[in-house]
Formats: sequence, structure tokens, C-alpha cells
Amino acid sequence: ETIGTALANTAAAFPDGEALVVVHQNIRWSWAEFDARVTDLAAGLLALGLNPGDRIGIWSPNRVEWVLTQFATARAGLILVNINPAYRTYELDHALKLSGCRALILAPTFKTSNYVDMLLELAPEFARAGDDGARSAALPDLEFVITLGRDSQGGMLGFDGIATGADDAARARLAAITPDLRPDDPINIQFTSGTTGTPKGATLTHNNILNNGLFVGRIMGFTDADRLCIPVPLYHCFGMVLSVLACMTHGATMVFPSEAFEPRAVLQAVQDEKCTALHGVPTMFITELALPDFSSFDLSTLRTGIMAGAPCPIETMRAVIAQMNMREVTICYGMTETSPVSFQTRADVDIETRTSTVGTIHPFVEVRIVDENDRVVPVGTVGELHTRGYCVMSGYWNDPERTADAIDPAGWMRTGDLGVLDAQGRCRIVGRSKDMIVRGGENIYPVEVENFLMTHPGILDVAIFGVPDTKFGEAVCAWIRRSADDDGATLTEAGVMAWCEGRIAHYKIPRRIRFVDDLPMTVTGKVQKFMMRKAEEDGAV
Ligand code: ATP
Ligand code: MG
Repeated sequence: ETIGTALANTAAAFPDGEALVVVHQNIRWSWAEFDARVTDLAAGLLALGLNPGDRIGIWSPNRVEWVLTQFATARAGLILVNINPAYRTYELDHALKLSGCRALILAPTFKTSNYVDMLLELAPEFARAGDDGARSAALPDLEFVITLGRDSQGGMLGFDGIATGADDAARARLAAITPDLRPDDPINIQFTSGTTGTPKGATLTHNNILNNGLFVGRIMGFTDADRLCIPVPLYHCFGMVLSVLACMTHGATMVFPSEAFEPRAVLQAVQDEKCTALHGVPTMFITELALPDFSSFDLSTLRTGIMAGAPCPIETMRAVIAQMNMREVTICYGMTETSPVSFQTRADVDIETRTSTVGTIHPFVEVRIVDENDRVVPVGTVGELHTRGYCVMSGYWNDPERTADAIDPAGWMRTGDLGVLDAQGRCRIVGRSKDMIVRGGENIYPVEVENFLMTHPGILDVAIFGVPDTKFGEAVCAWIRRSADDDGATLTEAGVMAWCEGRIAHYKIPRRIRFVDDLPMTVTGKVQKFMMRKAEEDGAV
């Protein structure tokens, strides 16, 4: 099955069921209406002259146009390239060049940024509005720039230059293309977060993401009676797969509260739309719970949801269950390259287990934990996590070398994460293998030292990483953000080391400490240790 036919099946099964509610655009469509609009847009994209296999970028916050584009490109066999709304010219340039986008759909503005101006900075030739055939020397593949919002149609912004009405020739072409699309065709290029280096473009197929959405929804027990509130970004797999595709494959309703995360809009939407499920990264839940008028919202309809993207603090999990009624909330582990989810907690385990592990393996996915020589290690031993199955990407776009490094000949995806399995098959993530520090033959897992240091009242945030050391091979280095109060103000390097003595094994104590205002982070909020390592090595801090 392809994503285009799966949507048609859902529309046939639940024609009058609500497909989506976009609160900030005042839109409410049934599956039948959504399906028809997707077909219109798919035909419109083909009428421009785009062909199956062409790459088309989308650079927009959460809007109905994003979801329409996701399905219209899939139905027309185009490859959607997700561009993070937080990207700026440097990253946009990289994304468009790497994927060779022939078309780009962009929102005119988002928050304080003007997307059109940023694009023109890269490719001024597109300034001649309406001048078809403009091309830019800097972005030679780009032919079509489609701005949202020229002709507003109700709450929806139009797609500038795309005829979404009846074009019989384009519809006939679409009808001819559909039967030729294959589940293993690439349909999506998603960029990794860039935590360990420049983001890589993972090439994903219908089969990859459609099934991942299906299984994620199934484990949450989704039916057409469910209504999912979606505050997570659509450009990311959390939005487009774990939210949109999980709903579509079950006929559940998608509820979008705002363009970008706004905690009050989320709770309002859950209450007004009687949502049964809510997704978020841990910080989103923390922010929602901290609203002064939190208790004035009626969240009694909530049942489940996914908390993912970062390790979940146990206190947050408790509060989400007790105060938000999300008794079946689950945690997922995965990576962009595996569509993304490979592990998920089930609803029936206790809170402790739900937060200390990432649950058990997903249906039709295999796992192994191996040592440096790719030999499987015994249960209870830490090693690199490998996963295999339908969800593994076809490769990094146009990069056979990195693909061969990432996926072994037998199809195992080397996740680069260290994990340990227990006898029940539950997995605990220990950290990234690249981040593990080997000091004088002792393995040190940064996350353990970070968790320990975070218990110091003067430490707001900390990142632990290894730097080369002539005596021990590697030395433990800490970059620390001090808290704003007295505990932070009086903190010294020697003070931190002295506080560690006797509380944690001596070899784990950071011997090189630097106080910083900010840690280098990706736009998705992950700490980039490779930047810190480089700064230490260059002495450029
Ligand atoms: P890059 O590959 O560009 O360096 P990235 O690996 O952070 O960046 P993503 O694919 O967005 O890019 O993130 C996947 C990674 O996130 C995993 O490999 C893992 O390290 C981490 N991760 C995902 N889920 C969890 C989880 N539940 N608990 C702990 N870590 C997680
Ligand atoms: Mg990665």
C-alpha cells in the first residue's frame, strides 16, 4: 500500500468522520473533504510540470497546507523534503542543495522571520514575482517557488501559482501515475537533528513511515473515536509520522492548536475538542503543567499520548498521569533513520519502568546489542544497539558511503546508541557510543555523570564529554551552566571537584571544568558535544 491509497481507504471507511481541526486557521474537514483536497493539490503539483521522484521542499510551521502537501506529494509520487521552520539561510541552502529540490513551498513569514526574504538572499533571481522560468545560479535545481498566502481561501492560504481547481489533463495524469507507485518508492527526505555533526538526509519510503505510523497508533489503541492534539512540529517525524500517519491509519482526528507550541492553546484545544490523546516532548508537558491556570482546564477526556525526543523525568511522568489523566501515556525510542520508532513502552507497565526504559521492540522490528566486533552480547550487558526491519531507511540521500557505514550488509542499522536489554526485552538507553569516554581503560557514560551533577543546587545544566589526554587517553570535561542564585554565583571549578569527591567514583570526576552561559544546541534542543570537543581541542573557548 502507498500513502495515497491508504488515505483513500480511510476516506472510504470514514467519509464523514473528522479528519482534522486546525484551531488557528478555523478549519474543520471530514476525511472525504480532506481526501478530495489532497487530490486537487496532487493534480495541481503535476500540472506545474513536476514528475514522480522530483524533490519538493516545504518550509512552514504547522498549518493545514503542510498536511495537505504531505499527502498530495505522496499521492503524486513526489519526494517531500521537510525543512525545519527554525532553519536560516545557511541550513536552507544545505537542505535544498543536498536534496536537489525542484520546488519549494514556503510560508511567507513565521514569527519574526521573513522566509521569502531569506530565500531571496540565497537566490535573488526569484524576486521577479510571477516571472515564470526564473532560475538561480546559486540553487540551480530550484524551478518553482510556491508561496503560501496569495489567494486566501477561507482559513486556508492558497498555494501561489498552483491551480487547485479541476484540470482534467492533470487529473488524468495523476490517475495514470497512481497505479505505478510502489510501497518501496522513496517519498520523504528527513534530516537528522544534527546532534553529532551536519544533519544527514534520511531517505524514507511509503512502506517505512506508513507502517511506523500504523504500529505506533495501534500500540496506543487508536480508533476513529480518538482525537489527538498535535503541538509537535510537522516537519519532524514526531509530527508527520507519530501524529499524522498514526491518526490517518486509524481514522482518528488530528487537532492542531497553533502554528508553534503555545502551552495555553494546547490545553484549550484538548478541552474544547475533547481530545483523547496528546503528544509532546518532555519540556512541553512540563510547561503545560506549570501554567498558573492549569487546573481550570477540563482534561478529563485524555487517555494516552506519546512523550518522546528526550529522556523523561519521572516526576513529569507522574504528573502527566495524575494531573492530565494520561494513564496510558507511552515513551518511544527511535531515530530519523528508522522512520523513527523501534521501541515503545506499553501502557500496562509501572511508572518506574516506563521512565527508566524505552519499552520493548516494535512489531516486525528486530534488535541486537553488540560489542565492538559486532558480536552479540549477553542480556544485561551494555553494547551498541542495532535494529533491523521494514522501518530502516533506504539510505542517506545521495550518500552511499555514509549509508554503508550506517547499515551493514545484513540490513542492521547501527544506531550509534548504547543500550542494554533486560530479560523481558526492555531496553534502557545509556547514551551515544561516540560520547562514551574511555579513561585509563574505564568506560564512563556521560549521562550518568550529568545526572549526578544536576543534583548540585548551583548547577543549572551540564554537558560531560571526553577530551584527549596524554596520560589516560581521555579526560572527563564538563561544561556547566550555573544557576542564577547564590549557589550558582559561589560555584568554582575546585568547588565542583571537591563536591564530587566521595560521592561518585574518582575516575568519573571531571578534571577539566568550564563555566558557560549556554551549551551549543541543535534547534531540536539536543546538546552538540562535537562542537564543545572541537572548541576544547582548538583552545577556542
Ligand atoms: P544526528 O544523527 O544528526 O547527529 P540525532 O541522532 O540527534 O542527530 P535524531 O534522528 O533526531 O537525530 O535523533 C535520534 C537520536 O535521539 C537517537 O539516536 C538517540 O540518541 C536519541 N533518542 C531518541 N529517543 C530517545 C529516548 N527515548 N531516550 C533517549 N534518547 C533518545
Ligand atoms: Mg543520529
